[in-house]
Amino acid sequence: MSDPTNDPVICPVCGKKAKTGSAIDCARHMFGTGDKPHREWVNAQGLSFIDLLIDQATTPGNASYQILADVIEKTRPKK
Ligand SMILES: [Zn+2]
Repeated sequence: MSDPTNDPVICPVCGKKAKTGSAIDCARHMFGTGDKPHREWVNAQGLSFIDLLIDQATTPGNASYQILADVIEKTRPKK
């Protein structure tokens, strides 16, 4: 995994850097924001924003955050 301090993850939807710049914080930001553009981006990755959100709310741990974080990492522009 890349070092978030040198290479922060920027939200692919709104361009905002989540707190630490890690992919998991970016995922958290996306769920926390949850507006139409963020939902549509997640759905466009072949995921269901609503299902992930429900999973996150009903199961312990950070499984949904981790799934979304992995997708965010994969879609990042390569340097
Ligand atoms: Zn965003």
